[in-house]
Amino acid sequence: MKSIGQATTEMAARYFRLFVNRLAYTVQSTKPDRTGKHYYYRPKDASRLAVSTIREHLNGRRTVGLYALNPQTQRSKWVAIDADYDNALDDLLRLQWELRQDGVEAALEKSRRGAHLWIFAEKPLLAQQCRIYIYNLALRLRVPVKGVAGLAEGIEVFPRQDQLGPQEFGNAIRGPLGVHQAIKKRYWFYGAEYRVEAQLDYLERLPKIKEDEIARFIAGLEMPVQFRPKPRVDLPPYDLSRREFRILDHVRPGRKRSGNYWTRCPSCAQQGRDQSGDNLAISTADPRKYKCWAGCTKEMIRSALGHPIRVRSDATYATSCGSAE
Ligand SMILES: [Zn+2]
Repeated sequence: MKSIGQATTEMAARYFRLFVNRLAYTVQSTKPDRTGKHYYYRPKDASRLAVSTIREHLNGRRTVGLYALNPQTQRSKWVAIDADYDNALDDLLRLQWELRQDGVEAALEKSRRGAHLWIFAEKPLLAQQCRIYIYNLALRLRVPVKGVAGLAEGIEVFPRQDQLGPQEFGNAIRGPLGVHQAIKKRYWFYGAEYRVEAQLDYLERLPKIKEDEIARFIAGLEMPVQFRPKPRVDLPPYDLSRREFRILDHVRPGRKRSGNYWTRCPSCAQQGRDQSGDNLAISTADPRKYKCWAGCTKEMIRSALGHPIRVRSDATYATSCGSAE
């Protein structure tokens, strides 16, 4: 049976109920840019995700990215754990097994380089509670978490934030069952037949976490210190005469796009990644603000450049590079 081009409006509506937390979304470009990457961008009508768009997503004509967190409620219908390193599947299976001990059935979805583990809520849950739960689980199982303690490889948990400001978007993840535009391939959940309708049946049947359950799971727990977000600090005005680390002394700025220079991330480069040479965004207005879109932390980038950050508070520069995720 053909699996592409058969999603109905009714299937799209079911998908919408399972996955859509807010009407903002991103779209994966169908054509690669000059470096061969298929970026996700916020389309012009990006505040109005429609069932018809989801239907296109399911039929492989566009691929949308979904945001995890609704800033009006600070809640999410799901938690997704993304892992794409060697042994990623082992770690996700251990998490899945451990979740099952709490009565939580998590669905495993293949991804391009690893997999995503999805947990669904009966009613949207506070992102903060979900994150306390998953990070404590990861700590107990010694599953690596990306970006913590300089780790380049590890899981990433969506929602990535406990809370968002009213104008913030947080991070989007590729909507399941969409076709990856770079390789025109669709990834499925392992737990059901590889047809859209069978997959939706499976996801709807999965037991969903309730609010009183998650409260019970995290009773007495808090976010482990190493996973807490770093506080934002306001920088003094950018002053070239000050003696401080300047990233542009160490990397070639590369091309300009949407207020940033884009160049190869030194930390990615050290791991043989970022062949297209554009993971690192450096704000043109204030080069103290830079960010690796593959998730390398400032500590990782600085040590890759041979200038490790000595004082922890050095690393707390806000990194709003002003680019769509
Ligand atoms: Zn990087």
